[in-house]
Amino acid sequence: MVLDTTTLRIAFALMALLLGLLFYFFVYRTTHAPYSGWWCVALALFLTGALAFLLDGTPLQRWANPMGHVLLVSGAVSVWSSARTLRRSPPEPLMFVAAPAATLVACALDSPATNTWAGGPVFLASMALMFGLATREMWPAGPAYTRVRIPMTASVGLVSVFYTGRLIAFLTDGPGGPTFELFFGSAITTMFTMVLLVVVSFSMAGLISEQQTRALHMVATRDDLTGLLNRKAFLDLAAAVLKDPAATQGTGALILADLDHFKSVNDTHGHAAGDLALQAFAGACRDTVRSADLVGRYGGEEFVLLIPGASAGRAESIAGEVSRRLAQVPTVDGLEMPTVSYGVALYDAGTSDVEDFIAAADRALYVAKSRGRNRTVHSDRIV
Ligand code: GH3
Ligand code: MG
Ligand code: MG
Repeated sequence: MVLDTTTLRIAFALMALLLGLLFYFFVYRTTHAPYSGWWCVALALFLTGALAFLLDGTPLQRWANPMGHVLLVSGAVSVWSSARTLRRSPPEPLMFVAAPAATLVACALDSPATNTWAGGPVFLASMALMFGLATREMWPAGPAYTRVRIPMTASVGLVSVFYTGRLIAFLTDGPGGPTFELFFGSAITTMFTMVLLVVVSFSMAGLISEQQTRALHMVATRDDLTGLLNRKAFLDLAAAVLKDPAATQGTGALILADLDHFKSVNDTHGHAAGDLALQAFAGACRDTVRSADLVGRYGGEEFVLLIPGASAGRAESIAGEVSRRLAQVPTVDGLEMPTVSYGVALYDAGTSDVEDFIAAADRALYVAKSRGRNRTVHSDRIV
Protein backbone atom coordinates (compact mmCIF):
# COMPACT_ATOMS: atom_id res chain seq x y z
CA MET A 1 0.00 0.00 0.00
CA VAL A 2 1.38 3.40 -0.95
CA LEU A 3 0.49 6.16 1.45
CA ASP A 4 -0.37 9.28 -0.45
CA THR A 5 0.99 12.25 1.49
CA THR A 6 -1.48 14.79 0.11
CA THR A 7 -4.51 12.71 1.05
CA LEU A 8 -3.07 12.00 4.48
CA ARG A 9 -2.41 15.69 5.04
CA ILE A 10 -6.00 16.54 4.12
CA ALA A 11 -7.20 13.82 6.50
CA PHE A 12 -4.89 15.18 9.19
CA ALA A 13 -6.18 18.73 8.69
CA LEU A 14 -9.80 17.56 8.83
CA MET A 15 -9.14 15.56 11.96
CA ALA A 16 -7.33 18.45 13.65
CA LEU A 17 -10.23 20.74 12.68
CA LEU A 18 -12.85 18.42 14.14
CA LEU A 19 -10.86 17.66 17.27
CA GLY A 20 -10.16 21.38 17.74
CA LEU A 21 -13.84 22.31 17.36
CA LEU A 22 -15.04 19.53 19.64
CA PHE A 23 -12.38 20.39 22.19
CA TYR A 24 -13.14 24.11 22.02
CA PHE A 25 -16.91 23.82 22.38
CA PHE A 26 -17.18 20.88 24.76
CA VAL A 27 -14.09 21.25 26.87
CA TYR A 28 -12.54 24.72 26.77
CA ARG A 29 -15.80 26.73 26.65
CA THR A 30 -17.20 24.91 29.67
CA THR A 31 -14.07 24.65 31.82
CA HIS A 32 -11.74 27.48 30.72
CA ALA A 33 -8.86 25.26 31.85
CA PRO A 34 -5.76 27.01 30.42
CA TYR A 35 -4.16 23.77 29.25
CA SER A 36 -7.24 22.90 27.20
CA GLY A 37 -7.09 26.41 25.67
CA TRP A 38 -3.45 25.91 24.68
CA TRP A 39 -4.33 22.51 23.26
CA CYS A 40 -6.97 24.16 21.02
CA VAL A 41 -4.33 26.67 19.88
CA ALA A 42 -1.91 23.80 19.14
CA LEU A 43 -4.55 21.94 17.10
CA ALA A 44 -5.35 25.11 15.11
CA LEU A 45 -1.65 25.63 14.35
CA PHE A 46 -1.13 21.99 13.32
CA LEU A 47 -4.19 22.26 11.09
CA THR A 48 -3.00 25.40 9.30
CA GLY A 49 0.56 24.03 9.11
CA ALA A 50 -0.69 20.86 7.38
CA LEU A 51 -2.75 22.98 4.94
CA ALA A 52 0.29 25.13 4.12
CA PHE A 53 2.23 22.02 3.05
CA LEU A 54 -0.50 21.23 0.51
CA LEU A 55 0.92 24.15 -1.48
CA ASP A 56 4.28 22.41 -1.90
CA GLY A 57 5.03 22.06 -5.62
CA THR A 58 3.01 25.16 -6.54
CA PRO A 59 4.44 28.66 -7.13
CA LEU A 60 3.31 29.55 -3.59
CA GLN A 61 5.73 27.04 -2.03
CA ARG A 62 8.31 29.80 -1.49
CA TRP A 63 6.03 31.27 1.23
CA ALA A 64 3.85 28.38 2.16
CA ASN A 65 6.63 25.93 2.99
CA PRO A 66 8.45 28.11 5.54
CA MET A 67 5.05 29.13 6.91
CA GLY A 68 4.05 25.49 7.33
CA HIS A 69 7.23 24.76 9.28
CA VAL A 70 6.78 27.85 11.45
CA LEU A 71 3.13 26.95 12.17
CA LEU A 72 4.02 23.40 13.20
CA VAL A 73 6.82 24.60 15.48
CA SER A 74 4.45 27.17 17.01
CA GLY A 75 1.97 24.33 17.53
CA ALA A 76 4.66 22.37 19.37
CA VAL A 77 5.41 25.43 21.54
CA SER A 78 1.66 25.53 22.32
CA VAL A 79 1.78 21.88 23.39
CA TRP A 80 4.63 22.79 25.72
CA SER A 81 2.61 25.77 27.01
CA SER A 82 -0.34 23.47 27.60
CA ALA A 83 1.89 21.12 29.60
CA ARG A 84 3.27 24.05 31.60
CA THR A 85 -0.15 25.40 32.50
CA LEU A 86 -1.11 21.88 33.57
CA ARG A 87 1.42 22.40 36.35
CA ARG A 88 0.24 25.98 36.84
CA SER A 89 3.47 27.43 35.43
CA PRO A 90 2.96 30.25 32.94
CA PRO A 91 3.85 29.72 29.26
CA GLU A 92 7.24 31.03 28.11
CA PRO A 93 6.44 33.85 25.64
CA LEU A 94 10.07 34.07 24.49
CA MET A 95 9.89 30.53 23.12
CA PHE A 96 6.97 31.54 20.87
CA VAL A 97 9.37 33.95 19.23
CA ALA A 98 12.69 32.07 19.43
CA ALA A 99 11.77 28.62 18.08
CA PRO A 100 9.54 29.78 15.18
CA ALA A 101 12.03 32.58 14.29
CA ALA A 102 14.97 30.16 14.17
CA THR A 103 12.90 27.83 11.96
CA LEU A 104 11.86 30.68 9.67
CA VAL A 105 15.40 31.95 9.21
CA ALA A 106 16.74 28.44 8.53
CA CYS A 107 13.98 27.84 5.96
CA ALA A 108 14.33 31.20 4.28
CA LEU A 109 18.08 30.67 3.79
CA ASP A 110 17.63 27.20 2.29
CA SER A 111 15.84 27.82 -1.07
CA PRO A 112 12.26 27.25 0.10
CA ALA A 113 10.91 27.84 -3.42
CA THR A 114 12.42 24.60 -4.67
CA ASN A 115 13.45 22.71 -1.54
CA THR A 116 10.50 21.26 0.40
CA TRP A 117 12.89 20.35 3.20
CA ALA A 118 14.27 23.89 3.56
CA GLY A 119 15.67 24.40 7.08
CA GLY A 120 14.84 20.73 7.84
CA PRO A 121 17.34 20.14 10.70
CA VAL A 122 16.29 23.27 12.61
CA PHE A 123 12.61 22.42 12.14
CA LEU A 124 13.09 18.79 13.26
CA ALA A 125 15.27 19.78 16.22
CA SER A 126 12.73 22.43 17.32
CA MET A 127 9.88 19.89 17.16
CA ALA A 128 11.87 17.28 19.12
CA LEU A 129 12.89 19.87 21.71
CA MET A 130 9.41 21.34 22.24
CA PHE A 131 7.73 17.95 22.58
CA GLY A 132 10.59 16.86 24.84
CA LEU A 133 10.07 19.88 27.09
CA ALA A 134 6.32 19.18 27.12
CA THR A 135 6.99 15.57 28.19
CA ARG A 136 9.21 16.77 31.01
CA GLU A 137 6.40 19.04 32.27
CA MET A 138 3.85 16.22 32.06
CA TRP A 139 6.10 13.60 33.64
CA PRO A 140 4.77 12.07 36.88
CA ALA A 141 5.26 14.40 39.80
CA GLY A 142 3.38 14.64 43.02
CA PRO A 143 0.15 13.10 44.20
CA ALA A 144 -1.89 14.85 41.48
CA TYR A 145 -0.48 12.43 38.87
CA THR A 146 -3.17 9.93 38.02
CA ARG A 147 -3.47 7.15 35.45
CA VAL A 148 -5.47 9.30 33.04
CA ARG A 149 -2.32 11.31 32.34
CA ILE A 150 -0.24 8.31 31.25
CA PRO A 151 -1.43 8.09 27.61
CA MET A 152 -0.98 11.85 27.23
CA THR A 153 2.56 11.87 28.58
CA ALA A 154 3.50 8.75 26.62
CA SER A 155 2.13 10.18 23.34
CA VAL A 156 3.89 13.51 23.68
CA GLY A 157 7.09 11.66 24.65
CA LEU A 158 6.75 9.39 21.59
CA VAL A 159 6.40 12.40 19.29
CA SER A 160 9.61 13.83 20.75
CA VAL A 161 11.46 10.53 20.26
CA PHE A 162 10.06 10.24 16.74
CA TYR A 163 11.24 13.72 15.76
CA THR A 164 14.65 13.00 17.28
CA GLY A 165 14.80 9.87 15.09
CA ARG A 166 13.75 11.93 12.08
CA LEU A 167 16.47 14.45 12.79
CA ILE A 168 19.14 11.75 13.07
CA ALA A 169 17.94 10.03 9.88
CA PHE A 170 17.78 13.40 8.11
CA LEU A 171 21.35 14.24 9.08
CA THR A 172 22.80 10.81 8.32
CA ASP A 173 20.64 9.62 5.44
CA GLY A 174 19.21 12.83 3.97
CA PRO A 175 15.50 13.47 3.30
CA GLY A 176 15.57 11.38 0.12
CA GLY A 177 17.47 8.46 1.70
CA PRO A 178 15.88 5.00 2.12
CA THR A 179 15.86 4.99 5.97
CA PHE A 180 14.27 8.41 6.13
CA GLU A 181 11.69 7.50 3.50
CA LEU A 182 10.88 4.16 5.10
CA PHE A 183 10.58 5.21 8.75
CA PHE A 184 10.37 8.97 8.92
CA GLY A 185 8.81 10.19 5.65
CA SER A 186 6.03 12.78 5.57
CA ALA A 187 3.22 10.25 5.06
CA ILE A 188 4.24 8.12 8.05
CA THR A 189 4.75 11.20 10.19
CA THR A 190 1.31 12.52 9.31
CA MET A 191 -0.34 9.22 10.19
CA PHE A 192 1.67 8.76 13.37
CA THR A 193 0.98 12.27 14.67
CA MET A 194 -2.69 11.95 13.73
CA VAL A 195 -3.09 8.90 15.99
CA LEU A 196 -1.20 10.53 18.84
CA LEU A 197 -3.18 13.79 18.63
CA VAL A 198 -6.37 11.77 19.13
CA VAL A 199 -4.85 9.98 22.13
CA VAL A 200 -3.70 13.25 23.72
CA SER A 201 -7.08 14.94 23.09
CA PHE A 202 -9.02 12.12 24.74
CA SER A 203 -6.57 11.82 27.58
CA MET A 204 -6.80 15.56 28.22
CA ALA A 205 -10.61 15.51 28.13
CA GLY A 206 -10.46 12.61 30.63
CA LEU A 207 -8.12 14.60 32.83
CA ILE A 208 -10.48 17.56 32.82
CA SER A 209 -13.44 15.44 33.77
CA GLU A 210 -11.39 13.85 36.54
CA GLN A 211 -10.42 17.28 37.87
CA GLN A 212 -14.03 18.46 37.77
CA THR A 213 -15.16 15.40 39.67
CA ARG A 214 -12.45 16.04 42.24
CA ALA A 215 -13.43 19.72 42.54
CA LEU A 216 -17.10 18.80 43.01
CA HIS A 217 -16.13 16.26 45.63
CA MET A 218 -14.04 18.90 47.37
CA VAL A 219 -16.96 21.37 47.42
CA ALA A 220 -19.29 18.69 48.71
CA THR A 221 -17.04 17.51 51.53
CA ARG A 222 -15.26 20.67 52.75
CA ASP A 223 -16.28 23.52 54.98
CA ASP A 224 -15.77 26.73 52.94
CA LEU A 225 -14.44 28.89 55.75
CA THR A 226 -11.80 26.57 57.16
CA GLY A 227 -11.23 24.00 54.40
CA LEU A 228 -11.68 21.22 56.97
CA LEU A 229 -14.09 18.35 56.41
CA ASN A 230 -17.69 19.39 56.83
CA ARG A 231 -19.86 17.64 59.38
CA LYS A 232 -21.37 15.10 56.99
CA ALA A 233 -18.05 14.19 55.37
CA PHE A 234 -16.45 13.81 58.80
CA LEU A 235 -19.22 11.53 60.02
CA ASP A 236 -19.07 9.39 56.85
CA LEU A 237 -15.29 9.05 56.99
CA ALA A 238 -15.26 8.44 60.75
CA ALA A 239 -17.87 5.68 60.34
CA ALA A 240 -15.68 4.10 57.65
CA VAL A 241 -12.61 4.30 59.91
CA LEU A 242 -14.46 2.65 62.80
CA LYS A 243 -15.54 -0.18 60.50
CA ASP A 244 -11.99 -0.80 59.28
CA PRO A 245 -9.88 -2.49 61.97
CA ALA A 246 -6.70 -1.94 59.94
CA ALA A 247 -7.27 1.84 60.02
CA THR A 248 -8.39 2.05 63.64
CA GLN A 249 -5.60 -0.22 64.87
CA GLY A 250 -8.31 -1.37 67.26
CA THR A 251 -8.38 1.79 69.34
CA GLY A 252 -8.25 5.53 69.03
CA ALA A 253 -9.56 8.84 70.31
CA LEU A 254 -12.14 11.38 69.32
CA ILE A 255 -11.63 14.96 70.43
CA LEU A 256 -14.45 17.47 70.38
CA ALA A 257 -13.17 21.05 70.64
CA ASP A 258 -15.17 24.20 71.35
CA LEU A 259 -13.66 27.69 71.35
CA ASP A 260 -14.19 29.46 74.66
CA HIS A 261 -16.33 32.61 74.88
CA PHE A 262 -16.19 32.83 71.15
CA LYS A 263 -19.28 35.00 71.02
CA SER A 264 -17.34 37.73 72.76
CA VAL A 265 -14.63 37.61 70.02
CA ASN A 266 -17.36 38.39 67.50
CA ASP A 267 -18.97 40.98 69.76
CA THR A 268 -15.69 42.80 70.53
CA HIS A 269 -13.75 42.52 67.27
CA GLY A 270 -16.42 41.80 64.66
CA HIS A 271 -17.49 38.75 62.72
CA ALA A 272 -14.51 38.91 60.34
CA ALA A 273 -12.09 38.63 63.28
CA GLY A 274 -14.17 35.68 64.52
CA ASP A 275 -13.77 34.05 61.12
CA LEU A 276 -10.01 34.58 61.30
CA ALA A 277 -9.89 32.89 64.69
CA LEU A 278 -11.85 29.91 63.29
CA GLN A 279 -9.40 29.66 60.38
CA ALA A 280 -6.44 29.94 62.76
CA PHE A 281 -7.85 27.12 64.88
CA ALA A 282 -8.32 24.97 61.76
CA GLY A 283 -4.70 25.70 60.75
CA ALA A 284 -3.47 24.75 64.23
CA CYS A 285 -5.33 21.42 63.97
CA ARG A 286 -3.99 20.70 60.48
CA ASP A 287 -0.43 21.44 61.61
CA THR A 288 -0.76 19.14 64.60
CA VAL A 289 -2.37 15.98 63.24
CA ARG A 290 -1.04 13.31 60.88
CA SER A 291 -2.47 12.62 57.43
CA ALA A 292 -4.38 9.54 58.62
CA ASP A 293 -6.26 11.59 61.25
CA LEU A 294 -9.59 13.26 60.44
CA VAL A 295 -10.38 16.87 61.30
CA GLY A 296 -13.79 18.40 60.71
CA ARG A 297 -15.79 21.48 61.54
CA TYR A 298 -18.70 20.08 63.48
CA GLY A 299 -20.65 23.34 63.39
CA GLY A 300 -20.15 27.01 64.40
CA GLU A 301 -17.08 27.15 66.63
CA GLU A 302 -17.05 23.45 67.36
CA PHE A 303 -14.55 21.08 65.78
CA VAL A 304 -13.97 17.35 65.88
CA LEU A 305 -10.83 15.25 65.47
CA LEU A 306 -10.58 11.48 65.08
CA ILE A 307 -7.14 10.11 65.90
CA PRO A 308 -6.82 6.39 65.14
CA GLY A 309 -4.41 4.58 67.44
CA ALA A 310 -4.28 7.42 70.01
CA SER A 311 -4.35 6.79 73.76
CA ALA A 312 -5.89 9.18 76.31
CA GLY A 313 -2.45 10.67 76.92
CA ARG A 314 -1.80 11.20 73.21
CA ALA A 315 -5.23 12.82 72.75
CA GLU A 316 -4.47 15.18 75.61
CA SER A 317 -1.10 16.13 74.16
CA ILE A 318 -2.69 16.77 70.73
CA ALA A 319 -5.27 19.07 72.37
CA GLY A 320 -2.48 20.86 74.23
CA GLU A 321 -0.45 21.26 71.07
CA VAL A 322 -3.41 22.68 69.10
CA SER A 323 -4.09 25.23 71.85
CA ARG A 324 -0.40 26.15 72.04
CA ARG A 325 -0.23 26.72 68.27
CA LEU A 326 -3.46 28.75 68.33
CA ALA A 327 -2.13 31.01 71.09
CA GLN A 328 0.99 31.67 68.98
CA VAL A 329 -0.89 32.86 65.90
CA PRO A 330 0.02 36.52 65.36
CA THR A 331 -2.96 38.88 65.52
CA VAL A 332 -3.66 42.56 64.97
CA ASP A 333 -5.89 45.20 66.57
CA GLY A 334 -5.74 43.73 70.05
CA LEU A 335 -7.47 40.50 69.04
CA GLU A 336 -6.57 37.65 71.34
CA MET A 337 -7.07 34.12 70.15
CA PRO A 338 -9.65 32.39 72.32
CA THR A 339 -8.74 29.46 74.55
CA VAL A 340 -10.30 26.09 73.76
CA SER A 341 -12.08 23.39 75.76
CA TYR A 342 -11.81 19.75 74.71
CA GLY A 343 -13.84 16.64 75.42
CA VAL A 344 -12.11 13.33 74.66
CA ALA A 345 -13.67 9.90 74.18
CA LEU A 346 -11.77 6.71 73.44
CA TYR A 347 -12.96 3.86 71.29
CA ASP A 348 -11.99 0.26 70.93
CA ALA A 349 -12.75 -2.56 68.51
CA GLY A 350 -16.34 -2.84 69.82
CA THR A 351 -17.25 0.78 68.99
CA SER A 352 -19.46 1.15 65.96
CA ASP A 353 -21.77 4.13 66.39
CA VAL A 354 -20.06 7.45 65.66
CA GLU A 355 -22.95 9.51 66.99
CA ASP A 356 -22.81 7.77 70.40
CA PHE A 357 -19.11 8.26 70.41
CA ILE A 358 -19.43 11.98 69.73
CA ALA A 359 -22.14 12.26 72.38
CA ALA A 360 -19.67 10.84 74.94
CA ALA A 361 -17.02 13.39 73.92
CA ASP A 362 -19.69 16.11 74.11
CA ARG A 363 -20.54 15.17 77.68
CA ALA A 364 -16.83 15.44 78.54
CA LEU A 365 -16.68 18.79 76.77
CA TYR A 366 -19.62 20.03 78.81
CA VAL A 367 -17.73 19.11 81.97
CA ALA A 368 -14.63 20.96 80.68
CA LYS A 369 -16.77 24.07 80.17
CA SER A 370 -18.39 23.80 83.56
CA ARG A 371 -15.01 23.37 85.27
CA GLY A 372 -13.84 26.73 83.96
CA ARG A 373 -12.91 26.13 80.25
CA ASN A 374 -9.42 26.03 78.64
CA ARG A 375 -8.91 22.40 79.59
CA THR A 376 -9.30 18.82 78.40
CA VAL A 377 -11.67 16.37 80.06
CA HIS A 378 -11.90 12.65 79.26
CA SER A 379 -15.13 10.79 79.03
CA ASP A 380 -15.23 8.32 81.90
CA ARG A 381 -15.58 5.18 79.85
CA ILE A 382 -14.76 3.70 76.48
CA VAL A 383 -17.78 4.00 74.22
P1 GH3 B 1 -18.60 28.89 75.32
O1 GH3 B 1 -17.28 29.20 75.94
O2 GH3 B 1 -19.60 28.45 76.33
O3 GH3 B 1 -18.49 27.93 74.22
O4 GH3 B 1 -19.16 30.25 74.78
P2 GH3 B 1 -19.24 30.72 73.30
O5 GH3 B 1 -19.43 32.18 73.25
O6 GH3 B 1 -18.06 30.20 72.55
O7 GH3 B 1 -20.50 29.93 72.77
P3 GH3 B 1 -21.85 30.38 72.11
O8 GH3 B 1 -22.51 29.10 71.67
O9 GH3 B 1 -22.63 31.27 73.05
O10 GH3 B 1 -21.47 31.25 70.86
C1 GH3 B 1 -20.89 30.70 69.72
C2 GH3 B 1 -20.76 31.82 68.74
O11 GH3 B 1 -20.09 31.38 67.56
C3 GH3 B 1 -22.07 32.38 68.29
C4 GH3 B 1 -21.97 32.46 66.79
O12 GH3 B 1 -22.34 33.76 66.33
C5 GH3 B 1 -20.51 32.25 66.53
N1 GH3 B 1 -20.29 31.63 65.24
C6 GH3 B 1 -20.78 30.47 64.75
N2 GH3 B 1 -20.34 30.26 63.49
C7 GH3 B 1 -19.55 31.31 63.18
C8 GH3 B 1 -18.81 31.67 61.99
O13 GH3 B 1 -18.78 30.96 60.99
N3 GH3 B 1 -18.11 32.83 62.03
C9 GH3 B 1 -18.10 33.63 63.13
N4 GH3 B 1 -17.38 34.74 63.09
N5 GH3 B 1 -18.80 33.32 64.23
C10 GH3 B 1 -19.51 32.19 64.27
MG1 MG C 1 -20.29 25.95 70.95
MG1 MG D 1 -17.76 28.10 72.36
